Order: sequence, then C-alpha cells, then structure tokens
Amino acid sequence: MTNETVTLAFEDDVAIIIIDNPPVNATSNAVRIGLQKAVEAVNEARPRAAVIRCAGRTFVAGGDITEFDKPPLEPHLPDVCDAIEACPVPFIALMHGTVLGGGLEIALACDFRLALEGTNLGLPEVNIGLIPGAGGTQRLPRLVGVENAAKIACSGIMFPAQVMRDMGAVDAVIADLDKGLESALANLPERPMPVSGREAVSPGADWFAEKRKELAKVAKGQESPLHALDAIEWATNTDFAEGMKRERTLFSELKNSRQSRALRHAFFAERKAAKPDALAGATPAEISMVAIIGGGLMGSGIATTCLNAGYSVVMIEQSEDAAEAGVGRVRANLEGAVKRGKLTATAMQSMLSRMKVGSDYKLAAGADLAIEAVFEDASVKNAVFRELDKVMGKDAVFATNTSYLDPALIFEGISNPRRCLGLHFFSPAHVMKLVEVVRTGETGTDALATGFSLARKMNKIAVLCGVCDGFIGNRMLAAYRRACDYMLADGASPQEIDAAMRAFGMPMGPYELQDLTGLQIAWANRKRQAATRPPEQRYVNLADTLCEMDRLGQRSGKGWYRYEEGNRKPIQDPVVDELLETYRRENSIEPKSFSQDEIQKRALAALINEGALIIEEGIAASRSDVDVVKLHGYGFPRWRGGPMYYGEQEGFETFGWMLDTMMAESPNSWRRSALLGG
Ligand code: NAD
Repeated sequence: MTNETVTLAFEDDVAIIIIDNPPVNATSNAVRIGLQKAVEAVNEARPRAAVIRCAGRTFVAGGDITEFDKPPLEPHLPDVCDAIEACPVPFIALMHGTVLGGGLEIALACDFRLALEGTNLGLPEVNIGLIPGAGGTQRLPRLVGVENAAKIACSGIMFPAQVMRDMGAVDAVIADLDKGLESALANLPERPMPVSGREAVSPGADWFAEKRKELAKVAKGQESPLHALDAIEWATNTDFAEGMKRERTLFSELKNSRQSRALRHAFFAERKAAKPDALAGATPAEISMVAIIGGGLMGSGIATTCLNAGYSVVMIEQSEDAAEAGVGRVRANLEGAVKRGKLTATAMQSMLSRMKVGSDYKLAAGADLAIEAVFEDASVKNAVFRELDKVMGKDAVFATNTSYLDPALIFEGISNPRRCLGLHFFSPAHVMKLVEVVRTGETGTDALATGFSLARKMNKIAVLCGVCDGFIGNRMLAAYRRACDYMLADGASPQEIDAAMRAFGMPMGPYELQDLTGLQIAWANRKRQAATRPPEQRYVNLADTLCEMDRLGQRSGKGWYRYEEGNRKPIQDPVVDELLETYRRENSIEPKSFSQDEIQKRALAALINEGALIIEEGIAASRSDVDVVKLHGYGFPRWRGGPMYYGEQEGFETFGWMLDTMMAESPNSWRRSALLGG
C-alpha cells in the first residue's frame, strides 16, 4: 500500500501497482504521490518486472480538470513519468477502457504497452485548448513517428487499440487482462531502449508547413492543434530534456489562455446541461420501442439515431409509398455510415430489421414513446397526436419535433398532458448533437427525464428549454439574422457580413448558410409571424424579395449568391447588388460602411441580448445552457465558449453600448435585456 489511491503488491517477483481513483482513475495529486512512492519502492526492491494497471472501468482516463484552476502541486506528472522510465525494472502498462491524456503519457513512459480489446486511447488535451503536458508530444513521436504522433496529438481523437497497435503505440492487444499479462510476463523480451532515448525523425520542413495549413483550415481559429504540432516538431530538433521543458512551459501558458478557459467552460457547461436541477428525483420511462410519425428529412434522421441507440422503431407516414420513401432515407443514412467505415453492413441489416413502417397508426400500439416530425402545421400535428392517443398507452410519452409552434396547440385535447413535451432535434438529426427538451406548462418531470435519458442513449446533448417562438436556438438565430439584415439594408454586403462572421470563427456566414439550407423555411416562418410581429418593428424584406424571385438558395442555383452548375462556391451576384441598391434608394437609406469588427459586435450584441432575455424570461435555466445550444446547434466557435461566455469575457457593457447604437438607428426594434443594461 502506498496511499489510498495507489497500492503496490509483489506477486512472484513482479510488482503490481494498482491505481484506484474512481470514477476514471484521473491523475489527481493523490494518484501522482502514490505512483511516485510505488516507483521508488520498485526501484529499491528490484523485482523482475513492474505492472501498472487500474481498478474499475478504465485505465487512467486523463487529468483532474478540477485541479486546473488551482496552483499545480508536486509531484508533477512529467516527473513521475520520468521516474518510471528511469527505473531499471521493466514496466508494463496493462490498459483497458479509455486511456487518455496523462494515462497514455504514463503508458509511454513504460517499456511495454498491453491493451485489452475494446480499449480506446488518445491525447485529447487539444480539445480543451492545451497540449499534452507530461511528455506526450516528446515521447509519442519518438515511439510512433512524427506523422502518427501528429494524427493523435493534434486531433484529440481516440483511436481503438488495434489502430494504436498498427501505429506502434501499443505492443499487443489482448483478449483478457490477466491471461494477457501472464503470457507477456512468461515471454518478456529484453528491456527495449527507453522511448526518450530514441530518435524522432523529421519528415521535413515542407511536411510541417503543409500540416500547419491543413490543421489551421480545420481548427478555424482554435490554436491548440497548431501548438501541439510545434511541440512535436521540438522532438525532432531538440534533445529530450529540452523538449520536455518547452512542452511544460507551453502547457502552463496555455492553461491560463483565454481559449483553454473557454473550452473548459464548454466542457463543464455540457455536463451541467445534462443534469438540470429541475429533474432531481424524476424517473425516466423505460423505452424500448419508439414510434416516429413522418419520415421526411427530420423523421428519417431521428429514426436513424433511434436505431443507432438500440431502440426498435415504427415509422408512420401518410401513405404506404411515403412510408417506403421514409425507410429509404433511413437506409441511405445508414449506408453513408457503412461507406465511412462507421458501421458494418451486417450491423446495418440488423438495425433495419428493428424497423417497421406503414401508414396505419395501429403500428404504434406497443411503442413507449412517439416522436412526431410531420409538416410544421399545428392542426396536422394535433391530428397526429389524437390518432396516437387512441392506440398508445396512457403513459406513453408524446414528443413533438416542432421548430417554432406552441406545443399547447399541438397537444390540445390529448389525454394525460403530463407526458407531452417537445424534443427539438437539429438537421441532420442523426448527426447533430443537440436536442432541445421543451417543457410545456403541463409537462411532468418524468417525461422530461425521459427526454434526457433518450438523448444520453443517443449520444446527444440535451438542453432544457421553456416555450417561446423558436425555443432557445432558433429564437437567437432570428435576432442574429435581423441584426445582419439591418446591416445589409444600411450598406453592408452579404459577402462582407459572411466574411466577418467566418473570421469570428463561425463555420459559415449567415447568408451563405441560408443559401445552403434553403430560404423557404425561414420565409414560411416570417409569413406565420407577420400577424404577431410588432408593427413598429423595423422589417427588412430583402429575403422575402429573393424568395419571390424564386432565389431559394443553392438548390435553385441562386439565392444571396449565384452558383455554377455542380459547384457550391458562392459567387457574388450583380442581381443581388442591384436589389440592395434599389432597396436602399427606395427607403432613402444613405449606405454606410461597416468594419469587420463592427459587424461582429452588432451580430454578437443581438445574440447575447436575446440569450439574456431568454434567461430572464425563464426559458433557459442558465447562461451556460444557452452557450451549449449555440455551440452544438449553430456552429458557434467552441474555443470562444459560447455567446454568453464570450459576452462576459469581453464585458457585457461593450455589447450594451453596441445595442444603444442599434436601437437608435432602428427604433422600436430591440428589447433590451437587463444584462445589457435594460
Ligand atoms: P419534411 O417535409 O421533410 O417531412 C415531413 C414528413 O411528414 C413528410 O414525409 C410527410 O409525408 C409526413 N407527413 C405529413 N403529414 C403526415 C401525417 N398526417 N401522418 C404521417 N406523416 C405525415 O419536413 P421536415 O423538414 O422533416 O420537418 C418535420 C418537422 O420537423 C417540422 O415540424 C419542422 O419544423 C421540424 N424541424 C425541421 C428541421 C429542419 O431543418 N428541416 C429542424 C428541426 C425541426
């Protein structure tokens, strides 16, 4: 025994070190102390070999993030790793579960690495704005080569044990931990050269330059993958001790960087969103069969994700033909996964065998949950639930995937309204991680808990949300677009606004994105909202005019931009320039220019203000919930933490001042939140 988290025992001249620090054996201070003591004891006793393994469901799965904001305590992990490597006794890392970050770095310091089948390994530090800080960037390239090391450390992705073995990071994949260890000990080869003593051969300056370009393109402003590559390059051009020193210095600097703090905020915000206080004590329903009504774009995506999560699915459409078309879409989604190597053809067949389709509501009789994804029309949706109410059990959960409509209208007259809620998926539903779980005035907490447990099973991120037009995400999107449309009317061009928002870190600007998704849905929505829109609010009808001109986006070859046949690249269109000029002339607007910074500030002010209103109205529980919605449903750059976090970092008053200007220019058009000085 060395301390309460690390034990050391000797069995037949072999030292067995066991780390037991639930839930994931993180390298907390106690673990580092225990491990250091154990290594010292091994060094003294000089057994034939030493094994590091873990109790519970996984080998060490990383550092303890809660220690990040505190001063680092000794011993530091790099020193513990160095001690393992310096010990003349051969060390074996015996791994299972998820071997991440510090876990993999401990294994790299060992002489032999054995991984149980099904183990996943990786260096995820870049995902929270860091680089590995205990030799990951210095030992890994020496062990597996620079290209493989970059693949692992710059991506933050986990790789299966077999893939890691093929790259050289794992010596053997074993079917049983104890038997695998036994046979390894029986045939232990001579101790190899410690990893730190090997050479990392540079693939050349051109390779690094090319890789930097490639990483920058994917990272869209996030710096950590590039830092990880810099550190890997040091392994090729400095000695190990110097590389370790530099790695540690950069790691410590990054820990305090704005990007890393924002990424850590995102990480904790997701965890918090998954466990809303409102659901304490609630019991989710047991779900085995899900009925999905409507097999269009959303229904087929939701069915795909339900099959992936292991549920049986019945899909009900308007006709048998439409039902066949629906299952065809599901098949196409699954075939896509097979093509990308994410699913085997056999698994696909077994999933499809769990699915039934048809037009008869009786099919839904045994389902525990119904998710409706028919046309965005409250009376059509209400008719669907009235049919389901006749055939499904009185406790079966009813969910609507409406984007904007009031669930009260959709569930009117349905028995047991406590079981009714909104589950707002995002398109494509089998890919996008976000689900807004919408609580109506009558939804019971058990039904909400069912929504959250479903999302977890689907590997999605659920955020609790109240009822308002567009819920959290789409309501904020509408405010963002309105701010952009006002700038467009007042002198900015679509390409200037798109470029500014891309420079901020959004994957696409608002206008090129509208062209990609199609202008018709928002158009139908604006028509629906016309009756309730405050008449004094400024309304820019440019998007309506485009729709009337049949410029509906990429699918019609033109929208805010024009497109060449078979090419998705937006091209500035003189027709749109002319339209903007005419609009400004007719509305007596003297066009002005907007700097990139001002475009970003205005768009952000609209987003942050709307997010704050949503919280003040009790629609979202917290700023961090709003951030999670924008990060996962709308491509807000994760390294900026989300709009509310970003607002706080920049100072909310900055956006309050921006809003002053916007309110003066467009009177009666913005309601100010208390957060921005309302
Ligand atoms: P869609 O037009 O692709 O699919 C709707 C499907 O519902 C069609 O296949 C239609 O045949 C079927 N349908 C209509 N009435 C039916 C009935 N009475 N019984 C059975 N099936 C019926 O539309 P979509 O894009 O999949 O949208 C569906 C819902 O999801 C809408 O409420 C929409 O607002 C919402 N939604 C859409 C998106 C998106 O990006 N498209 C995102 C989130 C939510």
